[in-house]
Amino acid sequence: MTDIEAKYVGGMVGSALGDAIGEFAFHYPNREGLRAQLDRMREFRYTDDTAMSIGLAESILKKGCLDQQDLGETFRFNFQKEPWRGYASGPPTIFSMVKRLGMTYAEAARSLFGGAGSFGNGAAMRIVPVGLFFHNSPDLYEKACISASVTHAHPLGKDGAAAQARAVSLALKLDPKDAFPRKIFMDRLLDFARTREMKQKIYLVQELIKAQAPPSFAVEQLGCTVAVHESLPFALYCFLRHLKSFEDCLYCAVLHGGDRDTLGAMVGAVSGVYLGIESIPESWRQKLENRAYIEDLALGLSEIKPRVSFI
Ligand SMILES: [Mg+2]
Repeated sequence: MTDIEAKYVGGMVGSALGDAIGEFAFHYPNREGLRAQLDRMREFRYTDDTAMSIGLAESILKKGCLDQQDLGETFRFNFQKEPWRGYASGPPTIFSMVKRLGMTYAEAARSLFGGAGSFGNGAAMRIVPVGLFFHNSPDLYEKACISASVTHAHPLGKDGAAAQARAVSLALKLDPKDAFPRKIFMDRLLDFARTREMKQKIYLVQELIKAQAPPSFAVEQLGCTVAVHESLPFALYCFLRHLKSFEDCLYCAVLHGGDRDTLGAMVGAVSGVYLGIESIPESWRQKLENRAYIEDLALGLSEIKPRVSFI
């Protein structure tokens, strides 16, 4: 595996492991208890975060680009196959509206929450294939929005997905053997985000890291709920605090309450891309459900180039 392939695989597998381990953390919310449980488990089963990230990769690989309708169909197909993956209420509602009312996915998503759309972290949690595949695209923001709009119509829901895609794309271009360019990384994210809420939180992450604030304080300041402008900034904080260790970074994200599986999925994606697959404990990798398929999808994304599309 080349270094760049190791980063693609690290991102997809890292995100899936973060999701699965974050889900266990709901039941074992301290490091020793969680670690002991992870040692006991024979298989790490992922949730909707990874099921949707898989769907995103499948659709991109099939189409060579982002096709919103195909993406929605792929999400719906995977949901019908495995409805027990812990989906929130949004996606099933959208799928049923598309089927019953003949709406597009984006129209159905726009009708949620009284017409405001969702600003949950569900579009950001699955975005790793977009950040990888379109890492060099000048339209990365728009690509992230196309993928987000299938379920998340609120500007904040899309902005969070775009910020996470940008974090993944930046991590792909950085060599972990070099000193981490923290200020450049954060400034790029700050420039990329478009909503006031997300910009303020990214700025706050920068300040918390600069001040070496502990996670217990950071989580109070940033929040960690399903709202994307809470959980995504805290995941970024955890990544920046533990740049050299996938394991520490993941424990930091999933052991401070809130939306643990999605915090794990988001931080696992960025750290996995940055450090590469070899940085993830072997015992964890071996236990990941469906690992070979997830690795194949990651390698597929690394092989094909985005088809030029005009939007
Ligand atoms: Mg989940």
